[in-house]
Order: sequence, then C-alpha cells, then structure tokens
Amino acid sequence: MNYHQYYPVDVINGPGTRCTLFVAGCVHECPGCYNKSTWRLNSGMPFTPAVEDRIIADLRDIRIHRQGLTLSGGDPLHPQNLPAVLHLVRRVREECPGKDIWVWTGYTLAELNDAQRQLTALINVLIDGKFIQELRDPALIWRGSSNQVVHHLR
Ligand code: SF4
Repeated sequence: MNYHQYYPVDVINGPGTRCTLFVAGCVHECPGCYNKSTWRLNSGMPFTPAVEDRIIADLRDIRIHRQGLTLSGGDPLHPQNLPAVLHLVRRVREECPGKDIWVWTGYTLAELNDAQRQLTALINVLIDGKFIQELRDPALIWRGSSNQVVHHLR
C-alpha cells in the first residue's frame, strides 16, 4: 500500500484529537473529488512497517492523548489496500486499547464484499458512499454530500 499524508496530531478528520492516514488508491472517480491526486494506487509513498510502528507509537503516546485513528484517502477499502489496512487496524485493536477507528470509503456499506467486511467488523465508524457534487452540503458533519452515511458500527 502507498499513502499520501500522515498527520500524527489531527483535529479535523473525526472527533477529538486523532492520528490520520490518507492512503493512495481509489476507483470511484467522483466528479468534484477533493483529493484527486490520491486516485492512483502507486501515487504517494510506500506504507512501510516503520510508518505503521510510528502510528502505533503515536496512539500510545501519553503526552498527547489521541481519541483514535482516522483512515481516509484515496480509499482504505480499495481491495489492494485491504491487507495493509487490516494489518494496521488489527494492531490498533491489540496494542492501543480504548482507541476508536473511523474510516472513510467511496463504497456503500451494502456493497462491501466479505474481505471488506473483515475490516468493518473491527472499526467503530464507517462514513460511506461516493461524493456526489449535486448533493454537496457544507453544513454536514463528517460528510461532503447528503447521500453519504455515518455508520456507528460499535
Ligand atoms: S471516494 Fe473519495 S477519494 Fe475516491 S474519488 Fe470519491 S471523493 Fe475522491
């Protein structure tokens, strides 16, 4: 997997103070996408074990309390991102108790396949669906367009 940005302290992408990772790779090609540069799977930088270790260490850092981890992109549920994202999320569950995990995807919850559902079984919140320009509403919280849904999964 490749990624574009990692913010060790982020207060924009989800509730509270968070660690946020923007991964590379998205098939949805939404007109008006705010993050077109992330569409190609091979854009950005390699998501190495060192980056993964850094995220775990940041989530465990008691000097700056983080509420949890945000995964966005690009699309963390792109089939080719799933192995790396699952590995990271399983580590967060095992090594960072009490942290929540929020994921943004262009797929809808209803259309996820079995492999993608392995991930949704481990996370707290999924914000799903493509960004649809005609349904854009700046007043929405955590969503860009009104078709998208904030699913509280646990
Ligand atoms: S799902 Fe998100 S990243 Fe992908 S094209 Fe749509 S708005 Fe852009």
